[in-house]
Parts: sequence; C-alpha cells; structure tokens
Amino acid sequence: MSGMPDLRHDPLSDRWVIIAENRAKRPQDFTAAGSRRTDRPCPFCRGHEGSTPGEVLALRPEGSPADGPGWRVRVVPNKYPILQATAARGLPAGEKLFASQPATGIHEVIIESPRHATRTSQLTTEELREVILTYRHRLGVARRDDQLVYGLIFKNVGPQAGATIEHLHSQMVGMSLLPTQTEQELRCAAAYYQSQRACIFCQMIEQECSQDTRVVARSDQFVAYCPYASFSPYQTWITPRTHSSAFDELSDAQAMELAAMLGKLLSQMDQVLDRPDYNYLVQSAPFDLTVHASYHWRVVVFPRITTWAGFEWATGCCINPIAPEEAARQLKFTSFL
Ligand SMILES: [Zn+2]
Ligand SMILES: [Zn+2]
Repeated sequence: MSGMPDLRHDPLSDRWVIIAENRAKRPQDFTAAGSRRTDRPCPFCRGHEGSTPGEVLALRPEGSPADGPGWRVRVVPNKYPILQATAARGLPAGEKLFASQPATGIHEVIIESPRHATRTSQLTTEELREVILTYRHRLGVARRDDQLVYGLIFKNVGPQAGATIEHLHSQMVGMSLLPTQTEQELRCAAAYYQSQRACIFCQMIEQECSQDTRVVARSDQFVAYCPYASFSPYQTWITPRTHSSAFDELSDAQAMELAAMLGKLLSQMDQVLDRPDYNYLVQSAPFDLTVHASYHWRVVVFPRITTWAGFEWATGCCINPIAPEEAARQLKFTSFL
C-alpha cells in the first residue's frame, strides 16, 4: 500500500469513497474536547511560510519573493491531499463488484490572512473580497485543466465542522469525476429545465423574493435566503439574482457585493448563534458548460449545531429542528453595503 488516496466505488449507493490513509498523519490544532492546542506554532501564520509546500499563488506586493512574508492571501498545495495529480491505485481492483480508480485531481489550501484570524467575521470586507477573487482565479485555473471535470471550494471553521487547523483557510478540490450528490442535483436541474424551459434556481429565487418569508438579505446582484427544505438549521444560500452557471463568471463588482453580503451573514450567525462552528461551500457548475448551463451557482453556509444520528445515517433523510422561516427571521439584515 502506498498510502496514496484511492477512489473506491460502492455498488449499493453508487457513491465513490476516497480511502486516504495519508490524511491520518495530519497535525491537529484541536484537542478531543475542542480547545486549541498551543504546543506547536501555526503553519499558516506570516513568518512560517516554510512550514507549508511552496505557494502556487499569492497576493503580495509586486517583486516580493515567493514563500516569504508580505502576502495577503496565499494558495499552497494541501500537504495531505485527498486527490493528487498522479495518483496510484491502492489495491488492485479487478473484481466485478470492487471497482476503483486512482484518486486524481488537485487539492489546494487558500490561506486567507497572514495574521492568526480564525473566523470570517474577523476579516474586513476588502480582505474577504480578495479571498473571493482568489476562489474565482483558482476555479478558473482548474477549469482549464483538461484532466478535471469539477471544482469545489469549501471552508471548515472549528472542530465540529471538520477543521484541523484553526487559522482561517478554505480549500479547493478539483476532481476528475463528478461526485454522486452533484450529479443528482444536476440531473434535477436539467430535468426541470427540460420540462419548464427555465432554470430551477432562477425560479426558486423569484418565488423566495415574492413570498419574502425566508429571505435574509437582498442586494442588487444577490439574494441570501434559507431554502424551503433546508437540510440543517440556519442553512443559508447566497445566489446571484441573474442566471450564472459558473462561479468564475463572477464580475469584479459582484465580488465586492458578495464579500459584503457573506461577511455580514457570518457576523449575524456569530451573534445569533454565539460563534458556531460552520462550513460554507461554493457550488458551481461542472467545467463543461455546454452540458451544464442549466445549473446556477450558489454559496451554501451552514452552522454545525446538530449532528447526524442513526436515523439520518440510515435514511439520508435530514431532521431540521429550526424551520427555515424562523431561521431567516433571526438572521435577517438590511444594511450591509
Ligand atoms: Zn496562524
Ligand atoms: Zn438560474
């Protein structure tokens, strides 16, 4: 066994599983009780650039040397990747039921500040704007890699959300196959488009804005709302009001507006829920836009205040104890630009 990640297919759920023994070696910032360990320096702080693999991109003053201080946002390959450019097959497949393939792809870490910030609400709007522009750039680069079909940006804040390092960062995974859940969502969006000749997300936005019971905030270009069938409490989507499939189509003006809205939303969640652990995802269309134009990108934010129990694991059916109408009422904000 190489310890390199391996993609295995589960024939019962038609899902792919990544077996990644290399991930077990990751350093942990958090103790089992959830508090921060202080016995080792933070690898993402300014001055510790040598603790990470060399940068693939950094926003830094022109002429300042790579992998030295001076940067504002820094992108490095993940030291413990779940996918990698040349991946080995872990165990020989060959048996009919046991399909596998090398876990090829890219896995990057976007370090969002040179100072030891731990929550998005500690960034200024300008800092968050630069982070969002970096997402746009990295997804654009992944799109041009013809080995890859799909890119996901996600953030984990706090141990309940799966973070192992406290210092504020996001991750981008570029994949050579479509995850089953994404495929299912695409199928529903495409089927709706086929029958109604309209984007399902555009229609949802229109309905949410006219009903106005789950809307958290609106701006010229974006709306934030708690979806009708939110799968977890306080889950909120931020989505562009005019149709756009791919996140990297975002304009500079939209990046500014999105930074202001996302920053304010996460500050609201910090206040209403007393600084919860949370995740957010940038869910964008797969890279082949000739096939996936009926998809509409969104940022999905969800605080981690409940966990999956036996029923959810058994059925995939989520139980949400907070109605999205109530969540929106608590999170609602108006001025943020
Ligand atoms: Zn740090
Ligand atoms: Zn749309």
